[in-house]
Amino acid sequence: MEISDELRSFEATGVYRLNVTGTSTGAAFLDPVRILNGSYQRFRIVPPAYYSRSFEPPRQVGDPETEPLEKRRKRKRNQKPKPRELNAMERIAEARHQEARPLLLSAHESLIKDKYLLEHLSKKMEGKEHKLDVGSGSENNFVELGSSWRSPFYEIIICFRKPHVLGNGEGSFDAQKTSFPLFNSIISVEAIDEVEGDFQNRHYILPRGSCFLMSDFKRVRDLIPGSSNQRYNLIVVDPPWENGCVRQKEAYPTLPNRHLLYLPVQELAHPAGALLILWITNREKLRMFVEKELLPSWGVKDPTVFYWLKVKHDGSLIGDLDLFHHRPYECLLLGYINVDTDAKQGSNFKLLEGSQVIMSVPGAHSRKPPLEKLLSEYIPGPKPPRCIELFARELFPGWTSWGNEPLHFQDSMYFSEK
Ligand code: SAM
Repeated sequence: MEISDELRSFEATGVYRLNVTGTSTGAAFLDPVRILNGSYQRFRIVPPAYYSRSFEPPRQVGDPETEPLEKRRKRKRNQKPKPRELNAMERIAEARHQEARPLLLSAHESLIKDKYLLEHLSKKMEGKEHKLDVGSGSENNFVELGSSWRSPFYEIIICFRKPHVLGNGEGSFDAQKTSFPLFNSIISVEAIDEVEGDFQNRHYILPRGSCFLMSDFKRVRDLIPGSSNQRYNLIVVDPPWENGCVRQKEAYPTLPNRHLLYLPVQELAHPAGALLILWITNREKLRMFVEKELLPSWGVKDPTVFYWLKVKHDGSLIGDLDLFHHRPYECLLLGYINVDTDAKQGSNFKLLEGSQVIMSVPGAHSRKPPLEKLLSEYIPGPKPPRCIELFARELFPGWTSWGNEPLHFQDSMYFSEK
């Protein structure tokens, strides 16, 4: 069978746009591993490391060896769910869900009907033999290290490769090692390709043109550039929202939601315009705070909601669409700063026009798919855009990443040499 142009483009970019019949809604399937691998020349991210959750051995239900006590208790409690009335907030959340439901279902249907794409997805399960260190706990805990009294003394040694022409005219590389303070200082990777860094017996792969600041929220204003044309056209924010689920799993520390009012988003936004993307949870109280207080305080008007629908490698949803507390999707709000949204169109970019559904197979807990490629036409200002992620756990070429653990997914255990 002939491979479609869209599939060929997907092979190259990791972005697959789907036609959703009967709606004007945009839908796309993303392959995060393919997108991220576009950033590396000598290394590649290995699917079993990115999709480590999908490769975990299945737990035996009720087996005391493999099922933690608390989980067994919880399962028992959940065995006979007592139907209860939804409270006022929950009813609003349910109404939002009912509004989004047809859109999510038709986007998902368009994925399921695409046999070629599904065939490609199932191939992702190949290569399970890759030896994984992921989740072994041997990696550095940057959150802990950054809050210790020693943090000002920690240094990362980065090895830059400088091109060098030999006497016989052939090219070679000289390695130059430089130490940088790891915490509370901005580190830029100005190199022709990715560089390697060493810190406390762990090895890190840093993409070319990436930049990061590993610091606590208290030092977030260190990010504000000195000159306004150094500000950002794409600002992605994925806050550690206070949320029962995150606290239970203790994946990372959370911040009181109101602290986000002090995030200097307006001071980070480029004067020629910025697209802001904010990841939120499905809790109605949070949605109201964000829409009524947080976004207006950042100068964002009339946000558009996008949905990230999480699927398995066979294209099926990761869970029941209608399960109230465990929706298989997350919402992201998109809006502009320093852009006249009443104008019919932007000068060199498309204005957002309604909701879109983004589908992908989720990686590690709370890891979000990379969005720049999918949304590039909606980013205002000079090209290439200047991009920043706040509360980041990984680096991208041409981006600034800030948070208390932006090197988390740069550990070499997620990569193999090409
Ligand atoms: N976008 C990330 C990804 O795709 O992997 C996930 C970000 S996660 C939702 C929130 C991040 O904020 C975590 O890495 C957490 O450690 C970090 N964080 C929590 N409290 C923080 C603080 N006080 N200052 C800086 N970062 C913080």
